[in-house]
Amino acid sequence: MIKFIPLGGAEEIGASCFYLNIDGTGILLDCGIHPQKTGIESLPDFDVLKDLNLDYVILSHAHQDHIGALPFLVSRFPHVRIIATPQTIEIADLTLHNAVNILNDQLSETDSYTHEDVDLLLRSVYELKYLDTMYIKGMRHYSDLPIRLNFYDAGHIIGSASVLLEYKHDRILYTGDIKLSKQKLLAGAILPEQRVTTLITETTYGSTDTKKMGNLKSETRRFVKSANKILAEGGSILIPVFALGKMQEIFSIISGEIEKGRLTDVPIYTGGIGEKISKVYDNNRYKVNYVNPDFRLSDIKKESYFGINDLSGFGKTPSIVIASSGMILPGTFSYKFAKFWLKQKSFGIFIVGYMDEETPGFRIAQSSRGDIVMLNDGEEIKVECTVEKFFFPTHSNREEIIEIFMQLNPSNVIMVHGEEESKNWIGHRMLEINPSIRLYASRKLNPIVLRSDAD
Ligand SMILES: [Zn+2]
Ligand SMILES: [Zn+2]
Repeated sequence: MIKFIPLGGAEEIGASCFYLNIDGTGILLDCGIHPQKTGIESLPDFDVLKDLNLDYVILSHAHQDHIGALPFLVSRFPHVRIIATPQTIEIADLTLHNAVNILNDQLSETDSYTHEDVDLLLRSVYELKYLDTMYIKGMRHYSDLPIRLNFYDAGHIIGSASVLLEYKHDRILYTGDIKLSKQKLLAGAILPEQRVTTLITETTYGSTDTKKMGNLKSETRRFVKSANKILAEGGSILIPVFALGKMQEIFSIISGEIEKGRLTDVPIYTGGIGEKISKVYDNNRYKVNYVNPDFRLSDIKKESYFGINDLSGFGKTPSIVIASSGMILPGTFSYKFAKFWLKQKSFGIFIVGYMDEETPGFRIAQSSRGDIVMLNDGEEIKVECTVEKFFFPTHSNREEIIEIFMQLNPSNVIMVHGEEESKNWIGHRMLEINPSIRLYASRKLNPIVLRSDAD
């Protein structure tokens, strides 16, 4: 019997967590939190696990919406074994510890977890490198045959993996977050060569017209043109980014353009956990699918924005500030800078990533000069600066998801990690290509039986 139950992350981007039962072995694919929610609200629905076998958690990558709920899971189910790539483990060490400090401000002591909990959790993680094989079998597995597990580089962030599970005649591939074509640093996803029987795929950009997204080259050109204009007029540029993935890609784009003499050479400011994550990129550049392993992020000259309280200096010396959080959440550096930036006529805020609708980042991204934006502390600010949007996606566009589908030629497709509209476009296209597939738009807690005992 093979059964699939989404505990979160089915209809939305957040709290990715999918339960898979293969002949009695219970597996969770990812264990994330919803970054815009707090406390119990932010977690996948772990209650259903009470009546199910649970043996393993397999992690696709280290973004919070895929690993953030691990400490909560492990405190309830301490026996689970966690499997991840070495790079994901390295990043998880940084980000889960970092989250302890943030959570302690948000939650009561009983809902929270400690640094010791994180250390303990990390000790129960098993490392699996790309293309190495692991055989797994749960406590109540009811056949002699184990399940074969492999990771494939998913090209999304450092250490990101698509998960291939093989058992009897079934080959199940969970894409995780996947970027098929190359970014500036990461060279794109590597897919299994043989066909799969079931494809569990993300659908992030299903509703986004690929033509509107441009490509790496054209977006870089547009970015450089706008940046040079602002810097020439004496303004500074703020780029809010996720510290994991987007920050490293943007750094390598900017340094590449400065080196080629196309982008004005100005001081670059950054800080926080992103710098530590960049080191993980550098240390693993020969171990993952990398565009240019000779390039090191640590060679880029950067200044730290820690301790700068008077931001008026950015009006005297044009600079580029790369700050997290990506969605300009309250209490972060990007929020503090954005409040100042919005009021400066010659300055620019460059939006380069995904914005959740409930965030200040979304409201700022939607605004243009002269608009009033409401920030989370209630302050209404008139937008004086330039606000521009660029596409540097870390996810596959919808045509690439279709390409993955065509290459892997599955009989079953389960669509996750995307909104209704996104699944509609992708599902429709897949059915046009192959009307005989069994296609599922996953819904939270709705089980999908991929193989019954009678099959
Ligand atoms: Zn991700
Ligand atoms: Zn994700």
